[in-house]
Amino acid sequence: MTTPPRIAVLGAGYTGLTIAKLLARRTGAPVTLVNDRDHFVERMRNHQVAAGRAVTRRPLRDLVRGSGVRLLVDRVTRLDPAARHVELAAGEPLGYDLLVYALGSHADLDAVPGAADHAFAVAGVEQSEQLRDRMRTADTVAVIGAGPTGLETATELAETHPGRTVRLITGGPLGHQLTEPGQEHLRRALDRLGVRVHENTTVAKVDAGGVLLDDGRHLAADAVAWTAGFRVAGLAAEAGLAVDGTGRMLVDGTLRSRSHPEVYGIGDAAAARTKDGHVLRMGCGPGGLAGACAYHAITARLAGRDPRPLRLAADTLCVSLGAWDGVLQHTDLDGVPHGTPMTGRRVALIKKAVLRVAGRYNPRHPGISVLTARQG
Ligand SMILES: Cc1cc2nc3c(=O)[nH]c(=O)nc-3n(C[C@H](O)[C@H](O)[C@H](O)COP(=O)(O)OP(=O)(O)OC[C@H]3O[C@@H](n4cnc5c(N)ncnc54)[C@H](O)[C@@H]3O)c2cc1C
Repeated sequence: MTTPPRIAVLGAGYTGLTIAKLLARRTGAPVTLVNDRDHFVERMRNHQVAAGRAVTRRPLRDLVRGSGVRLLVDRVTRLDPAARHVELAAGEPLGYDLLVYALGSHADLDAVPGAADHAFAVAGVEQSEQLRDRMRTADTVAVIGAGPTGLETATELAETHPGRTVRLITGGPLGHQLTEPGQEHLRRALDRLGVRVHENTTVAKVDAGGVLLDDGRHLAADAVAWTAGFRVAGLAAEAGLAVDGTGRMLVDGTLRSRSHPEVYGIGDAAAARTKDGHVLRMGCGPGGLAGACAYHAITARLAGRDPRPLRLAADTLCVSLGAWDGVLQHTDLDGVPHGTPMTGRRVALIKKAVLRVAGRYNPRHPGISVLTARQG
């Protein structure tokens, strides 16, 4: 009888928590899950946190109870693939035979001067809480970036703080990720909520009083919410694992590192590719599929079978525009939108269901993600 491998999963976000529980249940191998916080962060609700809505914090120890997963609350500081161990800020190094790297992403606050000092990154829950506190006294807030996170943040803030001025600043045209009917719906929603849109407007600097634009104008704001761009931790690159130009781990179609076969990368931290070479965007949807694919690949290889690679033909954006409106748009894997989008209240209901499944049901019953991930 062969000894099961020691499995270490780094990061207990949407993808790491799920795969750790699935692997412990299916393989019977000792699985250790490392996370720098003792609770599960539902990042997809950070804009709701910023707007002051109550978001329940669930302790990770409750979510892994009875699953066979050993939880270590500690920060990963270094990977040593040659020694096959992970160094931690407080604890002893953690040895592994098989590593799953799922450390997610964070805001790119180095993008312009002053952002790190004066802006609140909605990518992180602590800064979203700080933004919520600042909103108690702020008259004007500037949301930088009009990707899905920026749109959700601006609309949620405008809806919960109707008396304040919300500015939405984007370097490109508004709604480029939507087809024309979707763009029209988006503009109507922003108009209804009184959001002031500044399109094709580049922020050069953030300061204590607002933002300086690259054309020299200064837009006053009591709070600045940063949603423009995400980046990943440098740990994989520093350890000599193959990464792309942005530091995301390079993985094959089964989510296995291109340089280190005992390492798998999932979620925002890895640049997963479909069979025909499309790189998956950072996002919970693509991350969930990649996590399910990695789970199938690991269990197949442990059983001596050949795993099937990730298959995905299209993508879908589901963006809330306040609590009771939204837009759902199908896109190709390059983000090019197609077809008539769904809009309005039913999208808001779909989005609420997505958040509930990803943040409530799946962490407790991770088999859902395997069922919903269609693997051909
Ligand atoms: C406001 C907002 C709305 C969003 N809405 C959507 C949406 O509608 N649809 C969609 O697809 N995506 C959405 N996203 C993106 C989505 O949240 C991410 O793609 C998703 O969280 C990535 O999952 P992950 O498991 O890779 O990483 P995460 O969920 O970020 O988990 C990473 C985990 O690793 C931990 N960690 C990080 N570094 C260390 C370390 N050094 N040591 C130990 N632990 C560490 C973190 O604490 C965290 O628990 C949204 C994001 C935001 C901010």
